[in-house]
Amino acid sequence: MRIPELVNVPSRAKGSRWGMSIATGNGYKPSEQIPLGKRTTDEGLPMKIAEIRTYLMDAPLERPFAYSQAWFDRRAALLVEVVAEDGLSGWGECFGPMTRAVAGAVEFLKPALVGQDAMATEALWQAMYNRTRDHGQKGVAIEALSGIDIALWDLKGKALDLPIHRLMGGPLRSRVQAYATGFYRTRDPNQRDRLVAEAERHVADGYAAFKLKLGFGVADDIGLCEAVRKRVGDKVAIMVDANHAYDATAAIRLGRAIERLDIGWFEEPVPPEDVEGYRQVKSALAIPIAGGEAEFTRWGFRRLLAERALDVAQPDTCAVGGISECKKIADMASAFGVRTIPHCWGSGVAVATALQMLAVIPHTPPALQPIEPLLEFDRSEHPYRMAVVKSPIVPRDGWVDIPTGPGLGIEIDRDAVRRYSVA
Ligand code: CA
Repeated sequence: MRIPELVNVPSRAKGSRWGMSIATGNGYKPSEQIPLGKRTTDEGLPMKIAEIRTYLMDAPLERPFAYSQAWFDRRAALLVEVVAEDGLSGWGECFGPMTRAVAGAVEFLKPALVGQDAMATEALWQAMYNRTRDHGQKGVAIEALSGIDIALWDLKGKALDLPIHRLMGGPLRSRVQAYATGFYRTRDPNQRDRLVAEAERHVADGYAAFKLKLGFGVADDIGLCEAVRKRVGDKVAIMVDANHAYDATAAIRLGRAIERLDIGWFEEPVPPEDVEGYRQVKSALAIPIAGGEAEFTRWGFRRLLAERALDVAQPDTCAVGGISECKKIADMASAFGVRTIPHCWGSGVAVATALQMLAVIPHTPPALQPIEPLLEFDRSEHPYRMAVVKSPIVPRDGWVDIPTGPGLGIEIDRDAVRRYSVA
């Protein structure tokens, strides 16, 4: 009897293409299709995963600061290290302050990974996602998956002695312009003067663009934008970020008042769940609308793009599902005519990850002189941001070269990681 083509019958043949088989280890041999590199093991697998380690990092701030949603008095980060059987390591970072919960999710995913082929990033991504889908899809589960995926790509790059962007078919650009993220509130008096002075400092440091933190009341926000624009003149790009402190009505009122100040984009005007609110704000304002740092995976961005909620998509590689997923999101955004400018807020590992991603983001739209994506470069206090990498990533005249070393192109300073790690 003929089996209807719509019924997917699992093959018992060797080399089954079923995604879950790689996680359960029932005979799947990815190496049968992958040309063997120099790290071939006796069993024929290019590179088996031996261990996955997490590093919970935490340090108090000298001066606590606030954005529109919360105060920060410490900086927490979760680094992930994937170790191959021959001792080679890859590193990744998971976005967000819920480091202990994310480390727990990494622990949950470990059995699906140990013993598997580290080169098979796509197959492992699907295995990890399928393991967590029913209880995940967003947040902690995907942040955990992100750090692991980045570490796998770093490992793959180190094994093949190529930067990740070369493995992904890039680069489309060898350097990117950085914009300064900062302008957080402190408990000091005269916040307005302090923030205007910060703007002058970024310009003096060579940044041609920076992003103001708004969301502290419409009148206060308008006053800050006016004061900063007046001080720095019209040669500097100013973007604004409300961190979803407003509803659509207030966001439109604010946007209309600052439109004349030539604002590069208005980021997270309304809560991430309010996609209709995004559409309202976008259709009411001439300022481009940006968002996406609180969204996850291709499925999350599909909705934002299909409903035309954004002018600029801001996936965070350390949150949306890692390098594998962020590339898919950037390509999908391009198909919708939407530019991608990744969100980035973490240690040097996160910055290096953003740079590898930036090297392969498609030009949207293409042109002889296309609008290039920018690197978000956080200037707020972070005690170990660049301590964790042996060569700090520092913009020169506002530009950053995309690292060309293997993997992420960075070397981890294990002493610093130990120093800032908590049990
Ligand atoms: Ca933001």
